[in-house]
Amino acid sequence: MTESSKAPEAAAPEAEAPKAGASKAGASKAGASKAGASKAGASKAEASDAGEPEVGSSDDLMEKVVRLCRHRGFIFPSAEIYGGFRSTYDYGPLGVNMLRNVKNAWWRAMVQERDDVVGLDAAILGPPAVWEASGHLATFTDPLVDCKNCHERWRADKIDGVCPNCGSHDLTEARAFNLMFKTHAGPVEDEGHVAYLRPETAQGMFTNFANVLGTTRKKPPFGIAQVGKSFRNEITPQNFVFRTREFEQMEMEYFVPPDQAQKWFDYWLSERMDWYLGLGIPADHLRLRHHEQSELSHYSQGTADVEFLFPWGWDELEGIANRGDYDLKAHAAKSGVSLDYFDQQTNERYTPYVIEPAAGATRTMMAFLLAAYTEDEVGDEARTVLRLHWRLAPYQVAVLPLSKKETLEPLARKVLKSLQPHFMCDYDVTQSIGRRYRRQDEIGTPWCITVDFDSLEDEAVTVRDRDSTEQVRVPLANLLTELRRRTGEE
Ligand code: ATP
Repeated sequence: MTESSKAPEAAAPEAEAPKAGASKAGASKAGASKAGASKAGASKAEASDAGEPEVGSSDDLMEKVVRLCRHRGFIFPSAEIYGGFRSTYDYGPLGVNMLRNVKNAWWRAMVQERDDVVGLDAAILGPPAVWEASGHLATFTDPLVDCKNCHERWRADKIDGVCPNCGSHDLTEARAFNLMFKTHAGPVEDEGHVAYLRPETAQGMFTNFANVLGTTRKKPPFGIAQVGKSFRNEITPQNFVFRTREFEQMEMEYFVPPDQAQKWFDYWLSERMDWYLGLGIPADHLRLRHHEQSELSHYSQGTADVEFLFPWGWDELEGIANRGDYDLKAHAAKSGVSLDYFDQQTNERYTPYVIEPAAGATRTMMAFLLAAYTEDEVGDEARTVLRLHWRLAPYQVAVLPLSKKETLEPLARKVLKSLQPHFMCDYDVTQSIGRRYRRQDEIGTPWCITVDFDSLEDEAVTVRDRDSTEQVRVPLANLLTELRRRTGEE
């Protein structure tokens, strides 16, 4: 049972201490500014090859989010103590939780809550045959140009004929640059041992199509889903984790009878849009963009991108494609193994068509961070809040003993232990309670549980809500039920 009242929150954050008995409530100031969320213009926070992204003191949203990620432990430049390594990033204590939450939210929607999709975790290393059949070795290229003045290299379709480094128009003709990372499997470095790091997770789902059909009782329409790392030797990695050479994807191949392809394509467009909206991307920052005929990939019979309004403009979060029967036919031809489906009810044999929603986990995490970043005021004090959906927040709950005094610790730890099986919890005893609330706001923790001296008497704690800053007193016996109620998923 929750007690609640409508008294305004105390003015100064230092005074934002929980009150026993009489509960506090109140909303933060109206008109909270969404710092630059819709700002257009190129971001200055492009990751430099040298390591840490440049972050300045301007109020640019991108810079603020990059800085927050660095300083709060979401995302670090990789190999930072050696000066960084070419736009690769490491996910720190908070980032690893959040990225896992993004992938879990996707898995939940795409696999757990359905009976027509199964999972897979295929190898990252693959033999050339897979990539010959898929067309990647021949066509997975971007147009590369050199600036004849400063000798930087660029992706021609992203720079409008002007070198972004020195402004020169003196560029070479574009040539095709293959994005595959090539290596050798085993101790011999010859052509017979060539292997590739996968540039997408999709092909593992096609090469395992017959295995999955033969070991599950699935039949079209059904899907195979996979989450995992992919590697592309991008010419210009940029915009923090938006485009990196090593990244994570969340892809699903949905196999359907050919005459149902359009229906399922439309179905997945709407399912995928709803997923982003349900996890807190504002509707005015999300759109579907259908590809022009000339834009379609060699395998595609129709593609639409889910786009997010990034600080530099609309850009892709996910591509949803009707791949026809291109992939299964190509792998059947190359391997000699039939990848048809025989429908025993109709006595028909056919190669299923594939509808593919292909999203980026790391890119999507960045969009969730940008969309959540907010600056507002509580009691005249500015604060930064990540208004993340509770499912995505690095910690759902923070347990905060009001003081460092030892008398509070046993009860605070008991509360922590009781919540840990259910939620990812932080435990923080340092600094004033107001500071600790601000810190949790900044990393997106939806609920703070404060254990104070009255808790020892009344067996109740204060639950503070991140977005409204409302505080209510909750008996310990009801704490888990109350938190579950707040998730909306009792
Ligand atoms: P782009 O046009 O941005 O290069 P793409 O159309 O080649 O992307 P897909 O092959 O459709 O991308 O990959 C599906 C998703 O994987 C993309 O929508 C994106 O979210 C993610 N993704 C692709 N390349 C990268 C990358 N280099 N870094 C981070 N995420 C990526």
